[in-house]
Amino acid sequence: MRVKINVVGIVQGVGFRPFIYRIAVENWLKGYVRNRGDAGVEVLLEGEESRINRFLKDLKEKKPPLAQIHDIITKELAGKNEYKKFTIYKSSQETELSGSVIPPDIAICNDCLRELRDPNDPRYNYFFITCTNCGPRFTIIERLPYDRENTTMHEFPMCGFCQQEYADPLNRRFHAQTVACPKCGPKAYLTTAKGKAIEHEGPIREAGKLLSEGSIVAIKGYGGFHVATSTTKDKPLTRLRKVKHRRQKPFAIMARSLKAMKTFAYVSKNEETLLTSYTRPIVLLDKSSEYYLSDLVAPGLHNIGVMLPYTGLHYMLFDNVSDAAFVMTSANPPNQPILKDNDEALQKLSGTVDYFLFHNRQIAHRCDDSVIRMHNSHPTFIRRSRGYAPTPIMLKEKAKKCILALGGEQNNTACILLGNKAFISQHVGDVENIETKDFLENAAKHLIQLTHSKAEAVVCDLHPKFTTTTLAQELAEENDWQLFQVQHHYAHAAALMAEHNVEEIVGVCCDGYGYGVDGEAWGGEIIVGTRKPYEFKRVAHLEKQPLIGGDLATRYPLRVAAGILHKKAGVADWLLQNKRHFPHGEKEVQIILQQLEKGNNIIKTTSCGRVLDAIAAVLGICYERTYEGEPAMKLESAAIKGKDVLKLKPVMKGDVLNTSEMIMEIFKNTQELPWADLAYSAHVYLAKGLAELAIERALKNKIKTIGFTGGVACNQIMALAMRKIVESAGVRFLVHRAVPPGDGGLSFGQAVACGFSQF
Ligand code: ZN
Ligand code: ZN
Ligand code: FE
Repeated sequence: MRVKINVVGIVQGVGFRPFIYRIAVENWLKGYVRNRGDAGVEVLLEGEESRINRFLKDLKEKKPPLAQIHDIITKELAGKNEYKKFTIYKSSQETELSGSVIPPDIAICNDCLRELRDPNDPRYNYFFITCTNCGPRFTIIERLPYDRENTTMHEFPMCGFCQQEYADPLNRRFHAQTVACPKCGPKAYLTTAKGKAIEHEGPIREAGKLLSEGSIVAIKGYGGFHVATSTTKDKPLTRLRKVKHRRQKPFAIMARSLKAMKTFAYVSKNEETLLTSYTRPIVLLDKSSEYYLSDLVAPGLHNIGVMLPYTGLHYMLFDNVSDAAFVMTSANPPNQPILKDNDEALQKLSGTVDYFLFHNRQIAHRCDDSVIRMHNSHPTFIRRSRGYAPTPIMLKEKAKKCILALGGEQNNTACILLGNKAFISQHVGDVENIETKDFLENAAKHLIQLTHSKAEAVVCDLHPKFTTTTLAQELAEENDWQLFQVQHHYAHAAALMAEHNVEEIVGVCCDGYGYGVDGEAWGGEIIVGTRKPYEFKRVAHLEKQPLIGGDLATRYPLRVAAGILHKKAGVADWLLQNKRHFPHGEKEVQIILQQLEKGNNIIKTTSCGRVLDAIAAVLGICYERTYEGEPAMKLESAAIKGKDVLKLKPVMKGDVLNTSEMIMEIFKNTQELPWADLAYSAHVYLAKGLAELAIERALKNKIKTIGFTGGVACNQIMALAMRKIVESAGVRFLVHRAVPPGDGGLSFGQAVACGFSQF
C-alpha cells in the first residue's frame, strides 16, 4: 500500500520529522518525510496496511510535546512501491495548504540546561544552547519552510560535531535548525555604552557582576533587547527611571530561581506551573510581607511582574552573583517597538545604559515577553506575546472568509482568521506613529506569510482617526480587500463569545475608552451579543461623566473627580486644597471651576476606567496617570486588603448605573474611614451594579451567559466580585482565558465578528 499524508498544525521546528522518521522505521515503513513551504509536513509511506494504520495511531498518540496537529490529510496512491528505505528529504517549497504555522519561542529545556552545567559537555557554559525541544523559533525565522538557511542561523555554518548530531536520527539535535556550539555558533560580547569592545573571557557572567554592582546593561535576548539592572539598589533604578521617562511604571524582573522568588513574593502552585512552563511568561505575583526589593521596582503596587530565566544566557547572568533577581524590562524608546538590532540599540540606548551585552546573531522578528496574572486558579493574559504567538486559538467552526484584523490603538496586536484558527501576532503596543504602524503592518504580513493565508478582507475599529483605521483603508485599497469596521466594545464581546463558543451573551465591557456607535466616548457598557450572524446592542451603561479638558482628564484624574463632584458643596475648596496636583496650580483650578459652571462643550464618557481613576484621585492614591491604567491599578492595590464598609446599594436609573453618588459617599468619608476599605467598597459597588444590570438583561432576553471583558476585567477584585454575584443568580459567568481581556484581544474580536457574519 502507498499513501501520502499531509500534516497541518505546528509541525515544523518541534522535532517532528525526526519523530516521523522514528515511527516510520519502527513500523517497518519506507518512503520519505519532508517540510513544506506552507509550514506543514508531507509524508509518503509504503508498506503493509496494518503497519500504516499503526503509524497513524502513533502519529496522534506519540507526537512531540511541542507539536500541535490540527489536521491529517491521507490520500492513497496508485502505482508500485519504489522506496528502499525511509528518508528525511530536503524541504519542498510547495505551498498549496494553509493554516500550519511555526511554533513560538521556547524556553531552554531541562536537557539543555543540564548540558549547560556539565563541564564534560561540549556546550558547557555555551549561552546559545538549544535543541529540537527548545530555543527561538518565531523570532528566528525569515521565511518558510523552517530550515536553517531560512533562519538567522544561516550565518553560522555547523562544525563537524554539530553536523554529526544534526545528522544522527537518535540524537536530540537531529535536524535541530538552531544547533550550535562555542566553536561554530553565535558569540556573546560585552561593550561600553559607546560600543567599544571589552575583552573578557566570560562576558555574560561579567555582565551579571556589573548588574549586581549597580550598572545598567542592555542585554540582547531572543526577541529583542532588555534593559537590566539591580533590583535592590535605588541609585541605578532612579537613573533608569529618569532616562527612560518612566516615573512610576513597574519594571518586570527576572529571578534566578523559584526559591529566590519566594524570598520576596508569594507563589502559588498554579503560578509555579506557569512560571516554569516552556512559555516562561512574566507572572504578576503578590509582594510578600518580607518584600525587600527596592520600592522603585513596582512603586505603589501590591504586585510585581516576575519571570524565570528562559535562555542559557539568562541563567549564566546569575552565576557569579548572589542577587535574587534583576530588573529585566523591554528596551524600547518611548512610543517605539522593542529594539532588536545591534546598531539600532547602540544608537538609541547609549545614553541610557552603561554597557551592552550583545551577541552576533540577528533577530528576524521582535517579540516582547508575555504577561499573565492569575485570578485564583485562572490565568488572565495581560499581554500575549513570547511563548504564545503565533500559536493559533482554535475555534469550533470555520470562518467563511480569511480576515485580517488590525485592532484598536493601544496595546495592539494583529489577527489572521483562517478557517477555524485565529492567529494572533506578538504584542505590538500602542500604534500612534509611523514606527509602530510599520511594526503592526509587518507583524500582520509576517503572520499572513507564516500561515500561508490569502486574506480577503481587513477589519479595524470604528474610530475614524485611529492610525489602524488609516492602515486598514490603505491595505484594503492596495490589495483590493473588503473593509469592515467593528465597534470597540462589540469586538470585546465578540472575542469572549468566540473564545467560549457561546451563541448569546450579555457582555459587561469595561475599559478606558472606545468610540461608540453614536460617536460618544464609551467604556462601561452592557452589550447583548448574538452569533450567526454576529449582532450587538448596547442595552445599558454607566452614568455619563464629564471629562474636563478631554485627554487632560485622562492624564490628571482629579479633573474627572472634579467633574463628578462639582455639584457637591465644598468641592471648590477641596480642589484648591489640592491645587499642587495640577500642573498650573490655582489658575488651572479656577478655569476648571469656570468650565464646570458654564457646563457647555464638555465631553462626556461612560468609561469605567475613568470612574476608577477618579476614585484613586479622591482618595489621594494617584493624581497623575504616567502610564496606562496607573490610577486604577494603584486603586486596586490599595483595595486588596480592604472590606466593603460602605455597603452601597447600586443606584439605577433605567439603563444607567449611577456613579456620582457612590463617589460622593467616598468623598464624604475620606477623613473617617480607611482608604483600603473605601477603595474596596468602590470596587464592590461597580461590580454589583454592573452585575445586576447584566443579570436583569440576561433574564429578560433569556440569555444564559454573562461575560466580563475589556481592560477592567484584568482587575481581580472586580472580576471575582462579579463572578460571585452572577453565579449566585444561577447565570454562567465567562472571562477570557485565551486572549487578553484588554485591547490586546481586540483584533481577535474584530476578526471573529467579521469572519462569521458579514458574508
Ligand atoms: Zn533543549
Ligand atoms: Zn558546532
Ligand atoms: Fe478596550
